Amino acid sequence: MPDTWITNEQSRPRYRAECPLLWRSPGVAQLGEGRLHRVLPLDQTSAQWLLALDGLRTVAALRAEFADREPGPAHYAQLLWIAAESGAIDDAGAMPQAWRLMSVSERDAASADHSAALLTLGSSTLADQTVTLRHSTRFALTGAGVRSAPVSMTVAIITAMRAAGLTFTSRLEEAHLHIIVGMHPVVGAEMAAIEVSQPAIAHLFVAAYGDRAVAGPLVIPGVTSCLRCSYLHTRDADHHWAGVSMQLHAAISRLPQLPIDRLLAQLVASQAARLARAWVDSPVVVGAWRNLAYEIRLPDGAVDAQARPAHPLCQCQWVLEPAVAG
Ligand SMILES: [Zn+2]
Repeated sequence: MPDTWITNEQSRPRYRAECPLLWRSPGVAQLGEGRLHRVLPLDQTSAQWLLALDGLRTVAALRAEFADREPGPAHYAQLLWIAAESGAIDDAGAMPQAWRLMSVSERDAASADHSAALLTLGSSTLADQTVTLRHSTRFALTGAGVRSAPVSMTVAIITAMRAAGLTFTSRLEEAHLHIIVGMHPVVGAEMAAIEVSQPAIAHLFVAAYGDRAVAGPLVIPGVTSCLRCSYLHTRDADHHWAGVSMQLHAAISRLPQLPIDRLLAQLVASQAARLARAWVDSPVVVGAWRNLAYEIRLPDGAVDAQARPAHPLCQCQWVLEPAVAG
């Protein structure tokens, strides 16, 4: 992945100890060990030069420095490029925009995420962008499940979303993403009705009951399938579902607390956070998040990704034809 920061004369390359330089054999080194690791021929002098990059000198200063160094400037330029692509160096002069808005403790917590993003994306610039995108995305919790789920469920969701780098707000009108905590993982008629009245912002369905939990779909109005689509597909598969789901909803609405296993709450919250982050990261990283739900069943707790396609009868995917005058 070509990265432009290393070609910028004012960038200040800094070696990151999180991406260790390992010797495979004399004269052959390996940078890091993850997906982006690189194996390259390397002599001791070049290795020491790379490890000594401390972020104090600019690319322009380094170019002047290696102009008359053996084996030549092209060798060092290439070494910088490879190190940048494997996440072994970043730009000490840059930082995520979001860090300016964070408290010291938030920044400390986010710095390990940032290091991991560097090793995942192999780009100082992209790592900065993803951290900022995540932090500037605010989420709020809503839905009947917020009141009737055990506190462990709502705490698990908020904790997981924060771990994904998103920012919690208690004000629905401020949020970019509504987490709708449902009463039951299978969407009933009442949730389908709520979908229609939901404000036109991103929303993500999360629910758990007994042996089952679901995270998703993540609904982007006009772009993805919605909860009404999910309901219509379930109703097609079970012609009694409309009536049964009404009775189920009435019965579980009377419960003082929904039966939600604490571990299942943690597992489903993690899936919800993963889905939300795939969407938030999507301007930078290509990932699957559209029309998907993740179902988890006890006792094994394995995650099953399920397609949640749009339903032909749901108006959410209808393209409105302009009225033709005359
Ligand atoms: Zn729909």
